[in-house]
Amino acid sequence: MSVRQGREFLSIPGPTTIPDAILNAAHRPAIDIYAGSLIALTASCLDDLKQIFATRGRTYIYAANGHGAWEAALCNVLCRGDAVLVLESGRFASAWGDMAAMLGVEVATLAGDWRRAIDPGALEARLRADAGARIKAVLAVQIDTASGVINDIPAIRRAIDAAGHPALLMVDTVASLAVVPFEMDGWGVDVAVAGSQKGLMMMPGLSFIAAGAKAIDAHGRADLRTRYWDWTARDGDEHYMKYCGTPPEHLLFALREALDMVLTEGLGQIHRRHAHLAAAVRGAVARWAEGGALAFNIRAAEERSNAVTTVLMNDGFPPDPLLAYCRDKCAVTLGIGIGDLNGRAFRIAHMGYVNAPMILGTLGVVEMALAALDLPHEPGGVQAAVDVLARSVPA
Ligand SMILES: *Cc1c(COP(=O)(O)O)cnc(C)c1O
Repeated sequence: MSVRQGREFLSIPGPTTIPDAILNAAHRPAIDIYAGSLIALTASCLDDLKQIFATRGRTYIYAANGHGAWEAALCNVLCRGDAVLVLESGRFASAWGDMAAMLGVEVATLAGDWRRAIDPGALEARLRADAGARIKAVLAVQIDTASGVINDIPAIRRAIDAAGHPALLMVDTVASLAVVPFEMDGWGVDVAVAGSQKGLMMMPGLSFIAAGAKAIDAHGRADLRTRYWDWTARDGDEHYMKYCGTPPEHLLFALREALDMVLTEGLGQIHRRHAHLAAAVRGAVARWAEGGALAFNIRAAEERSNAVTTVLMNDGFPPDPLLAYCRDKCAVTLGIGIGDLNGRAFRIAHMGYVNAPMILGTLGVVEMALAALDLPHEPGGVQAAVDVLARSVPA
């Protein structure tokens, strides 16, 4: 028996649900790449990205996924033999660091924990110990989609300043831009990296960088620069070089629509929507957790992200049957546990183009799976989520 016939729902933390308007925006013939409307389209997207990153710095659009923008960020500001400090808090900062190591950068890690956010006090102490300022950049992730944590970026900036350390602060906002507040200039972030397929609701394939004055200055000295990623080539007047070759036109048509949707809804409203829906998910998980089969991966409530909730299965309760039930019986695909949490967790995404019925439907399916599989849980998770939303979204 199954109840899966109907629209499938992808509840993984990227790619996220793509609105029809964005899909349709890409469905058109190619246009001239040397003149005409594409030139203004690029300029408008670069400008609007500044607004979304909250920066007066420069912005870049890459035909690449988030990993591409990671590499671009490193290559544009670092020299071979420089050291960087990776702030571990899940999977993604470490993976960014691995990329730096392969480029010939020395990588130090501030060891973290998959169940909690970066500790700014430990960062300050680590930077104070770097008396010769060998560390040229600090790499941090705002929301780590593997662990489900949100890191406090302003507190990380304060820790760097308190240590009187000159390192650049480079932040991965792939899973947090247009999900939770991010203030590049206000928070003193030097380089920010994002991707198209998470909060920005697009198909995968584009990534974005914002670079502030200190990063542009470091760029002038960087010797890891390569033609494809190079900011200087992309800063020139020649439109073709803004993408180092044929512009990814159809992704840009989609990006224009995505930016219009984001700016029309408004960043404040987008942040509130995510906060309320995430709180509903957490309300449900907290209720189920009373039964013993599962728990929040992130221990402290204030460190749980509004983009994704990582649910840890306790020993003896592997997540696979639950994942398979949701997918095969109900057409809801949840995120699997990745990295250290492989085979021990599942993830409920609540990021991007999501509304109350999508979240309540997903939670209903998870609760249905918990019941059908006889997994020890306190029932009433969906009711808890409804109660959260009824309070936060008054009539
Ligand atoms: C998804 C994700 C990435 C990687 O993006 P890709 O487009 O898959 O390369 C990097 N960082 C974070 C926090 C992510 O969630």
